[in-house]
Parts: sequence; structure tokens; C-alpha cells
Amino acid sequence: MPVLRNGVVLSESVAGLERVPPRWFRDRGLDLLVVACAEDEARWEAERLAGFLREVARSGVEVYLAPWGYGKVLYAETLAPSLYLHTHPQTLQIDSRGRRCPRACPNDPRFLEWFSNSMRTLAWLMEVRGFVWETPSFYYGRGAWACRCGYCQRLYAAAAGEPLPRQLNPEVTEFRRQSLNMFLLAAAAAVQSVDRRLQSVVIPPPPLDPATATSGADDWRILANNSGTDVLGLAVSPRPPALGLPPAEHYGAFASTAQAQGKGTWLWLETDRLTPEATNDARTMARNLRLDAIIWSEYEQLRRLAPPR
Ligand SMILES: [Zn+2]
Repeated sequence: MPVLRNGVVLSESVAGLERVPPRWFRDRGLDLLVVACAEDEARWEAERLAGFLREVARSGVEVYLAPWGYGKVLYAETLAPSLYLHTHPQTLQIDSRGRRCPRACPNDPRFLEWFSNSMRTLAWLMEVRGFVWETPSFYYGRGAWACRCGYCQRLYAAAAGEPLPRQLNPEVTEFRRQSLNMFLLAAAAAVQSVDRRLQSVVIPPPPLDPATATSGADDWRILANNSGTDVLGLAVSPRPPALGLPPAEHYGAFASTAQAQGKGTWLWLETDRLTPEATNDARTMARNLRLDAIIWSEYEQLRRLAPPR
């Protein structure tokens, strides 16, 4: 039986890292640390961030960087601003009503070039084990979907031999999935061009959330077949009344799809309240599904609770 590893996500601002002792994670028996890094902070605070990550890594913890905000193709929910979006409005996604959405289009070559350059720079500057690409998605809201920009229209027409439909039909759904898959491949290639050993961890939107069906990142067969991806994360949230987790068998097909392609699997626990029920359920789920690691919500919560082992 493989050893189940434990990690946390740290989403402090870079200035806030001064309050976090780098050895805390090792002292609490954690194996992994995922540090969120917002586009604008990485631009101005890269040295301070790199210093912190180096200290944590020296203590024996595997460190991963999760870029947030960058054009908002990844983790669009973040409140972190994206300067890129303000300075490159012509690369934003266009929805089915013809409006620009506050997210860059993963098929726009100007965005892709900027994104790849930014990730290469991070890979040079930060001594990390790998990168976490969190909740990649296309825009979808109130019945409107994206993207119908000129690049998406041309790409679709070239592949399908007909214009991009107005409806989000199965062909368009598949086109969006393949587009995000190419984006994830480009993300992995960018960091691996600096160091081939850098791991690429993809956290798709929560598989059981109905909204995931319109995200473009809902098909785990496609995600698991991505040659750039090393690990897939199962995003799971506790639910009322006791705030335990959904039964493990709801996730069995996702985990086994990833494992069949030789991918690592993490349980990515998303909660504002880490309860004893959720803690027990997470361990049971991870064992039943033969997952490699549990990433336990946030640093501050874990500090208040008992350590996870
Ligand atoms: Zn587009």
C-alpha cells in the first residue's frame, strides 16, 4: 500500500509570507506545499517569493507553484487582478452574444505567447517541484458561452469544415475541451522547456458540480490522455448537514481514468470549514480510491485544527 502524502495550499499575499515560518510545514509532518501566486504579485515580488519557496524546499517539503489570475483561463474565480486583461482587451474571449468576457482566450496566439513566456520566467526563478494548473475553463454564464473570437472561429472551421455553430452543441463542447487540452499541453511544455523534471498538476473543476459540464474541462478521458500532465486532482467539497464528503464511489471512475493513464491522483479538498467528518471522509476516500496525496484546504485552518496525522 503506497504511503498517502499530505499537503496544504498557501494563498497568502507575498507580503503575508513574512508571517509564515518556512519550517512550519515540515514540523507539522506535511509532504507537499502548493503556493498560490497571483500574476501581479509575481511581477513585483518574485525575489521575496523565490526566497520563501527555497526555504520551504530546504526543509524537505515538495513545493508547487499555482499561478493565479494569468489571463484568468486558470482559476477565473480569483479576486487577484490581471494586469494582462486590462492591457490586452483584444485577446479576451467573445461569448455567444458577441460580448467580450473578462478572460483571455486560450486559442489566441498573443495570449498563449505571453502566458508561456510568463510561465518560463517563473520556472527559471522559482525552485519548485512543479506547477499546479487550477480549474482551467472557458467562460460560460447565463446561457451564453465563449469563445467565438476570430481565432476560435478559424480553428473550428479548419477542423470541422463548417462555421462555428451558435449553439453549444456536442461538437462545440468537444472543440472547447480540445482547446483547453492544448492550452494545458502548452503550459506544461513552457515550464518543462526550462527543466524537464518539472511536474504538471491539473486540478479540473469539481467533477460532481453541474457547472463543470459547461467549463470545457469536464472530460477526464481527454485530461488523462494529455502527455504533459503528471497528476490530476479531484476537487471535492464537504456538504451539509454534517459537512462530510460525498461517497468515494462517486469519484471512482475519475480516479481510475487518471490512474489507467499512469497519472498521479490528488484529493483536492475545497472548504472554508475543515470538520472532523470531512477529515475522516477524506482519508477514507483517498485510501479507497488509491490516491497519492490529500491537499488539505488552507494553512490558517490547519493551524487551528489538529495536524492531519
Ligand atoms: Zn477564442
